Amino acid sequence: MIEMQDVYMTYPNGVVALNGLNVKIKTGEFVYIVGPSGAGKSTFTKMLFREVVPTTGKVLIQGVDTSKLKWKEVPYHRRNIGVVYQDFRLLPKLTVYENIAFALEVIEESPKNIRKRVMEVLDLVGLKNKARFIPDELSGGEQQRVAIARAIVNRPGILIADEPTGNLDPETSWEIMQILEEINASGTTVLMATHSKEIVNAVKKRVIAIEDGIIVRDEHRGEYGYEA
Ligand code: ADP
Ligand code: ADP
Repeated sequence: MIEMQDVYMTYPNGVVALNGLNVKIKTGEFVYIVGPSGAGKSTFTKMLFREVVPTTGKVLIQGVDTSKLKWKEVPYHRRNIGVVYQDFRLLPKLTVYENIAFALEVIEESPKNIRKRVMEVLDLVGLKNKARFIPDELSGGEQQRVAIARAIVNRPGILIADEPTGNLDPETSWEIMQILEEINASGTTVLMATHSKEIVNAVKKRVIAIEDGIIVRDEHRGEYGYEA
């Protein structure tokens, strides 16, 4: 369960990014976050990952107030949240396998478990045969699939996808969407910030629309609601 209570967030330069957010997202939901550029979508997702903390108000994840986490606890908190970005953010000199294994090596998993789990997530995203490739040798869609595999390799409870299809053609975007739905079907809460009117209107899910730092719309099986 994710809960925001009266969340306000002002950046150090004085920009008010969030202006009184109240929302509850249950475990296992799939939620689109929509809204114009600058509306506060990224700040919203960054708050869950605790890259930013609210100026006032509370962000609770499984009942834990993220602004009360001690410095040392933040990495543990983040292990429960996978993040996927529009620009993939893979390590260019590492192979696909290594990019994914890295996330498990830092938590000192045994080599045997790392190997098993990496091949498992590569299988899930359909890239077992590309384990030895480096990111440059892959298409954009394949790179995004590697990024998704990396994001879920720790079995996080929450997956945040920040415009995951923003750099991809429509056909590839559908493939990515299918993988995100599969991950959601296995019980992971998925939050997807997106500008894709086509996807939101075709694959019906909860839609939370943010404008000027407030939630202006929150609908079960909603529409994108903006011009593409
Ligand atoms: P969105 O993801 O919907 O485009 P953001 O959350 O990135 O919106 O931005 C919300 C507002 O906060 C915008 O006015 C943006 O310019 C501002 N903003 C975002 N990041 C920062 C930052 N690091 N410092 C100052 N202002 C920021
Ligand atoms: P399977 O589980 O299907 O037998 P394999 O063990 O054959 O999978 O590995 C599939 C791919 O992953 C192969 O290309 C293999 O070389 C690669 N791979 C496996 N382990 C590593 C590793 N530690 N580093 C880089 N590539 C690896």
